[in-house]
Amino acid sequence: MRFALDLHIHTLLSPCAGIEMIPVNIVRRVQEVGIDIMAVTDHNAVGNAESVIKSALKYAPGLGVFPGIEVTSKEEVHILGILPSVESARKLESMIHSHLVNPPVKDSLAEQLIVDEDANFIRYEEHFLMGATDFSVEEVSDLIHSFDGIVIPAHIDRESFGLIYNLGLFPPDLEVDAVEVSKFAKESTLVNLRRLIPPDVPVLFSSDAHFLDDIVPPRSFLELMDKSFDSLKEALKNYGYVRNHKTGG
Ligand SMILES: [Zn+2]
Ligand SMILES: [Zn+2]
Repeated sequence: MRFALDLHIHTLLSPCAGIEMIPVNIVRRVQEVGIDIMAVTDHNAVGNAESVIKSALKYAPGLGVFPGIEVTSKEEVHILGILPSVESARKLESMIHSHLVNPPVKDSLAEQLIVDEDANFIRYEEHFLMGATDFSVEEVSDLIHSFDGIVIPAHIDRESFGLIYNLGLFPPDLEVDAVEVSKFAKESTLVNLRRLIPPDVPVLFSSDAHFLDDIVPPRSFLELMDKSFDSLKEALKNYGYVRNHKTGG
């Protein structure tokens, strides 16, 4: 079946996201615009992933939600990790938290809200999430893969925190499962980027939504067996094969 994806959505746990990004608002809006599968990807944290999953079961049945994280590497590159379970996401998070280099900034912590599926306050995240880790992009990728996660460098078409702009190239040894570009990336940008990344790597469009209005109709679709994590992983793995055979290349 063909499913629409948006694998990059923040909640109110990210200090730069709007207070309206509570689980119920997100899952309702995501379903409303026609997305079938989403991922929760807060900066360097996974504290609200389970609440969004529970909220979807309650308020947006049928919506697929994966736990995820947007990790900041030491080169200030953002890399998404999409995880098979909340448990593995939490284990990855604890590794990330022990490698965050910036000390907590007191006033910012009040903006890092962890809530339940009905938006009841649970606690503030005590690690300052807007800092970088001391992991290189390759180390972030290896770490996410060690938890059987999916690795996707985020918004590679953007100057700020984008892989290509920050490193000047796609690192030859970097293992990724897809790359992400903005939902609004122009065709000309895509043609240019395609030359810079390995040919068998899928390009996905995501919203990187920080506010409800950022959640817009999907631009990425994949043929999947079902909405499971394994099906998504499999489809990304086979993408190069399908692509090459469809184009005869
Ligand atoms: Zn980012
Ligand atoms: Zn983001």
